[in-house]
This record gives sequence, C-alpha cells and structure tokens, in this order.
Amino acid sequence: MSPFEGVFDYIILGAGSAGCILAAMLAERLPDDRILLLEAGDDIPPHHETVWDPTKWVLVSRDRTLEWGYRSVAQRGLDGREIKLGRAKALGGCSVHNAMVYVRGGAYGFDRWAREGCVGWAYEELLPYFERVEERMHITQAEMDPFIEDLVVACNHMGIPYNPNYNTSPHQFGVSPFQFLISPGGQRETTFKNFLGARSHKNLHIASGVRFDRILFDHARRAVAVAATDLRTQRQVEIHAGREILVAAGAIGSPHLLLLSGVGPESQLRDLGIPVVSALPGVGENFQDDLFVTAMFLSKKPLPPQPYGLMGAVIFTSTDPSTLPYLTDVECSLASGTMEGLELSPDKRQSYFIYPNLQLLGSRGTIKLASPNPAEHPLIDPRYLEAPEDIQRGIFCVELARRIGQDRGLSGWFAEEILPGPHVQTDAEMEAYIRRTADTCYHYAGTCKMGVDDMAVVTPDLEVRGTQGLRVVDASIIPTTVSGNTAAATMMIAAKGADLVLASRRSA
Ligand SMILES: Cc1cc2nc3c(=O)[nH]c(=O)nc-3n(C[C@H](O)[C@H](O)[C@H](O)COP(=O)(O)OP(=O)(O)OC[C@H]3O[C@@H](n4cnc5c(N)ncnc54)[C@H](O)[C@@H]3O)c2cc1C
Repeated sequence: MSPFEGVFDYIILGAGSAGCILAAMLAERLPDDRILLLEAGDDIPPHHETVWDPTKWVLVSRDRTLEWGYRSVAQRGLDGREIKLGRAKALGGCSVHNAMVYVRGGAYGFDRWAREGCVGWAYEELLPYFERVEERMHITQAEMDPFIEDLVVACNHMGIPYNPNYNTSPHQFGVSPFQFLISPGGQRETTFKNFLGARSHKNLHIASGVRFDRILFDHARRAVAVAATDLRTQRQVEIHAGREILVAAGAIGSPHLLLLSGVGPESQLRDLGIPVVSALPGVGENFQDDLFVTAMFLSKKPLPPQPYGLMGAVIFTSTDPSTLPYLTDVECSLASGTMEGLELSPDKRQSYFIYPNLQLLGSRGTIKLASPNPAEHPLIDPRYLEAPEDIQRGIFCVELARRIGQDRGLSGWFAEEILPGPHVQTDAEMEAYIRRTADTCYHYAGTCKMGVDDMAVVTPDLEVRGTQGLRVVDASIIPTTVSGNTAAATMMIAAKGADLVLASRRSA
C-alpha cells in the first residue's frame, strides 16, 4: 500500500528537531490512531562519513546535499551581504547538522512568554518537558583541559564566575563546561535516531522525499488535507487528515507553508492571487536570529584537542551588568584553529577563536512569498543589525572577547591578536568590522509567533488562529527568543505540543 493511502488521524509536516519528537510522543500515546510524518529530506545512513562525527559538524553544516540552500536578501546592516541561512533537509532536520550545543535558555525569557499572556509557558511549567526530552537525548558535559582551566581564570579576572552547570543552576551567568547532544559513544544525537530510529511504531507512517506544498481547508476553515509532491517521481498527491494537521517545518518552512495555504497577511496573499483562508498579519513577521562576531588570537603553543566540535567551554554574560546574574544576552563559544572546516593557512592553525553570540537582539525581519510556487524559496529579510542598539551590543561583545583572549590568565597561550586586529580600535572601526564579518547563529524563530495579541499566529495552545484542526509546533512559535541556542527550546515545544494535542483529544 502506498504510504499516502487512506485517511490519517494526524499528519505531521516536517521531521526535524520538533517533528520527530512530536511524532514519537503521539504515536506512543495514541496507539490506535494512524499518524503520518512527511519530510522532504531522507534518512542519514549509519555509515555516513561526516554526520555522526561531532568534530566534523562544520563540514556537515556546509553539505549542500543536506541543505535547503536558503539565502537572505542583501542585508543593509551587514554591508549589503547576502547571508547563507542554514536549514537541513533530512529526517532529523537541523539536529542532523547543527553544532549539538545544548542550552535550555534562561528562565527569564520563558517567564516573559507567560507574562505576555502565554499561559502555561513559564519556565517552571516547561521544566518537565525539557526533562522528558533529556531522558532520550544524551547530554555530554565537556571535560576541562589546560586551556579551559586558564580561560576560567581569565573570566574570573573580568568578574565572570565559574558556573558548574548553566542548565540546572538558578541562572546561566558564568564560564561553564559546555554541554553537547553527543552519545556516550561519541556520536551526534539526532531527534530522528533517538526518538524514531530504533523504535517501530506500527501506527506511524514516515514518508521521506516528499515536499508538502499546501494545506487544504473545508468551508468551515478546518484543515482537512495536504497537497504534496513526491520528489522522486514529481507525482502530486493529496493526503487527508481526520483530526489535525501539525506543522513542524521550522521557522522558515512553517510560515512559507501557511502563506502558500492562504493563511497570512491579506494584502500579500491577494497580490499573489492566493485565496485568503485566515487573514493573519503576523505570519512571516517577527523573524529573529542571534548573530556571532569573531575574535581570533594566535597561540604560543598547540591547543588541546577539541573532541566535541567546538571547545568544551562557554561564557554567559550580559551587555548590561545591571541585569546579572539573572538575565544574560551574550553566549561566547570558542574554537581552536584546528577545527575541521575552518580551513586556515598553516601559520594560523595554532590559534583560538572567541565567538560572542549576540542574543535578545532588537532587530526583527520578515519572510514573504516570492511567488505562489511552492518550489520557489521565500524572500527572507532578517534585517540584521538594523535596530540601533544592536550594533552597540556588538561593539561591547568584540571588546569583551578581545579582553578575555588577551587576559593574563591566558598568558601561557596568547601570542598575537589576529581578529579584529590591532588596526581596529575606535567605535567606528569596530562597527565597520562587525558589519563586515558578523554572521548568523542559525537561531531563526518567531515567524508564527504564539501569543494573545493581533500579531500572534498561534494561541498558547499552538492552534492557528482563525482555523480549525491546525497547529504549528516548532521554533517558529517562539514569541521572543530566550538567551540560549534554539534546539533545546524547540524540542521542549514539541514535547509540550504533544501534550496539548492529547489534551484537546480528551476534551473533544
Ligand atoms: C548549522 C546550524 C547549527 C546550529 N547549531 C545549533 C546548536 O549547536 N545548538 C542549538 O541549540 N541550535 C542550533 N541550531 C539551531 C537549531 O538546530 C534549530 O533551531 C532547530 O533544529 C529548529 O528545529 P525545528 O524543528 O523548528 O526545524 P527543523 O529542524 O529545521 O525541521 C524542519 C523540518 O521540516 C522539513 N521541511 C520544511 N519545509 C518542508 C516542505 N515544504 N516539505 C517537506 N519538508 C519540509 C525540513 O526539511 C526539516 O527537516 C543550529 C542550526 C543550524 C542550521
């Protein structure tokens, strides 16, 4: 029987970080329901050359065969550059090619969601969902090495304390051993492998190599079917859902799909001749991302090996010390110049990098349809560094990284500053350096935001406003990013999303 035949109770669109967890949790708790998981990408074989080896993550993230290949429109705030916006196309989604860093995110940020009307989304209420994910995704805490020991001393000189565990301490502030989604055997963890790989859920059908193109609605604006294309045969299919369609296509794919389906800003849809199902001005708005800036130093001696991909330490601090210790907006990751994929000349390989990730930025971007053709990428305009305060915070971060990298605590290592370089001193020079070099952290969020205001796309139950039988469950529902990388929060959203679906089922 074709995997598309018959009616499914639930159709999940996208087998990424969120979609695989949602599919597993529903399939396990609704054994008599038929569930379909659709995904454009394919499975990663166990012998794949790079994906499973954490030290090769930069190579994996550049692998075009695993990628959608999105690019931003030219960014005014980044010297007119077009930025490559990484998004994986595979069973497991971005968990297949991300840097594996595991950061739940500061409690303050989640509490803000709740304060702004998202009942049930305060950090204490979300903790059980993080823990549910952590039961199945193994977290490896990095070990100290001689460089990291000296880094801790350098941070202490800046007033940044040692924090043994940024995920379980009352706050993130400090320099800590980094935590990675890496198995005890040293392999990348992915949501597909860990939640769906070894388990056979008889009621779950997984169809890979299928692009979903549109959601179809009945007269009551109930989502009843999905129009999709089998990418191997180019055959068009229509698949019917008896209960709900759950969109988990990520912060670019989900707004793109809703817009193609007639859910979005009315004038944009009408201009492209798309019949309006629900006029929601927030679809594709509120695009948020973190940006990283770079400081690089030559080292007097070889750096310790880096078995996790990035170095085994992270620094959380704030551009506004008055918010410490509870609110951080800077997360510095580090790498050695020997990291695979950096492709440095031999004289630069004995070096260390400090990458402050600028978080909670003020700039907000958009995703709009380029055309009603589902095969065409949307227009993505993150508007990086357009909010005036963002560049000031960037300057603070480069200065901070520069001071840490040259601190006397690291005198056994520091030889010379390469980036931004001694010629970059004034604020204007710093600003020019940042606009020339800052790059995406790949933490896209917010484009189908959850909330109770007019720009909200989904309710706190993740239901798409103005429709029935349709939810979004992925990073796009994040109303405001939290201080941290996005994978942990996204996986938590999937675990909570499964509970929300089950709760509606019980009350139906
Ligand atoms: C290079 C890189 C490094 C990163 N590093 C980290 C990190 O170290 N730590 C961290 O916390 N976060 C990191 N992130 C971010 C994090 O991985 C993402 O925020 C998270 O995975 C998003 O999950 P998601 O479920 O929302 O989307 P995704 O994981 O992107 O899943 C969406 C899925 O939907 C599929 N899809 C979309 N549209 C269609 C369509 N029309 N038809 C069929 N299928 C479709 C996609 O192929 C994909 O599999 C990184 C991201 C990247 C790209």
